[in-house]
Amino acid sequence: MPRPLVAVTATARSETDADPVRVRLNAAYMDAVSRAGGLPIVAPPTDPGAAEELIATVDALLLTGGEDIDPSWYGAVPSPHLGRVTASRDAWEMALTRAAAERRIPILAVCRGIQVLNVALGGTLLQDIPSDRPGSLQHEQSGARADRTHRVHLAGGSRLAAIMGLEPTVNSMHHQAVDAGATRLAVVGTAPDGIIEAVESPDARWWAVGVQWHPEELDGADARLFAAFVDAARG
Ligand code: MN
Repeated sequence: MPRPLVAVTATARSETDADPVRVRLNAAYMDAVSRAGGLPIVAPPTDPGAAEELIATVDALLLTGGEDIDPSWYGAVPSPHLGRVTASRDAWEMALTRAAAERRIPILAVCRGIQVLNVALGGTLLQDIPSDRPGSLQHEQSGARADRTHRVHLAGGSRLAAIMGLEPTVNSMHHQAVDAGATRLAVVGTAPDGIIEAVESPDARWWAVGVQWHPEELDGADARLFAAFVDAARG
């Protein structure tokens, strides 16, 4: 059986003034797709006009973690707590997401990815959890990336709960989150403080799941999530 081809998004930026612009991506995403039986290819920012062509040639889209999204994409002014943004990456990933939604190509959206998925389909974000929702849990954990630091309550009957169970404990490395969910998405996961941690497509014909944590750093139920994604890509 041929391996499904999975486009994995990456950023392109320089870290210092002396540094050339380089494509950057945590290799953990590639490894997670490979372990699940998929063939990952890196899709760094290029002409957004080419997004439909790329989507037409792949079986699935993995939207990865990274920078904040420019709030102009959802009609908000920048918070003083907004982090770094990369305009080329925003434009490319919005175009990829809309093209994939149009064709109902499977999407797994991780961390920044759940935010891109939500904004591309018309939703909004919290720009900075500590200042927008004082008293929330610590969502930027200080330990190792694979440490599981807070629970997520998943909705019974959701695609995600069927894969992971109702109360997974996950890692957390984010200061932004989904605020208003897009109409094509259902909110299916929240942290104990009410911060949105998971969304999915309620359309049985379109496998699209967004998670605010980093399953590519985890095993067990999170490896099953990648397996389910690659299975959807085969369909
Ligand atoms: Mn979290």
